[in-house]
Amino acid sequence: MPTLSIRDLHVSVETDQGAKEILKGVNLDINSNETHAVMGPNGSGKSTLAYSLAGHPKYEVTAGTAELDGEDLLEMSVDERARAGLFLAMQYPVEVPGVTVTNFLRSAKTAIDGEAPKLRTWTKELNAAMEALRVDPSFAARNVNEGFSGGEKKRQEILQMELLKPKFAVLDETDSGLDVDALRVVSEGVNRAKQNTDVGILLITHYTRILQYIKPDHVHVFVDGRVAEEGGPELAERLENEGYDRFLSATA
Ligand code: ADP
Ligand code: MG
Ligand code: MG
Repeated sequence: MPTLSIRDLHVSVETDQGAKEILKGVNLDINSNETHAVMGPNGSGKSTLAYSLAGHPKYEVTAGTAELDGEDLLEMSVDERARAGLFLAMQYPVEVPGVTVTNFLRSAKTAIDGEAPKLRTWTKELNAAMEALRVDPSFAARNVNEGFSGGEKKRQEILQMELLKPKFAVLDETDSGLDVDALRVVSEGVNRAKQNTDVGILLITHYTRILQYIKPDHVHVFVDGRVAEEGGPELAERLENEGYDRFLSATA
């Protein structure tokens, strides 16, 4: 069974004051068909974990391993990671000027599958996914994320995920900045992907709200660059009531 396995991962970024260690020994195992929530305060390194898995050049892995299906993820280029089945929905999706949504999605699909999707089924699938995510058809011809609202960008991330069908998806604060309706639509998209494929999900969030829609099998509390506590869905409820204070004072 495919797994995403992270062992003792240490990651630094280069700052004006030299290298700063942000991830300080992360351990996580995610199997197919599992949803893991990573919850933690701002600045605890959640996005750094997401970027490190995706292969962002700014984040230097100084120790530890990350494997997908037993293959060394850290040795792979960004493209190879995507082809291996890893998908990242970014907290702050970037604009891609000059590239339309349609062309972007088709290129990404072609790059990942190694062949262009059959036009007729692809168009059908794209239209169906856009409709399900309540994305207006006019978006297909617009440049990726250019002038999109925060919520529209998040829908695009989930649209990509639904069409690319990754083995593992890292969703970095896909809930942030969404109103209740958008949160529901986006969550339904994630749940469709869970139902239709074996995708394993790493759901990074600051708030418990999205977990009412997307049910996690496991919850990891992330503090100061590592997993401070893990448990089942009940842990999210405790965080809802108690906040992160308990964990923060424990590390201070
Ligand atoms: P989170 O997503 O949990 O809010 P981040 O991973 O974004 O946390 O950030 C963790 C810490 O690392 C923060 O203190 C942040 O300022 C710092 N950091 C992240 N990326 C960089 C960077 N490129 N340069 C300098 N500091 C960074
Ligand atoms: Mg973040
Ligand atoms: Mg499934």
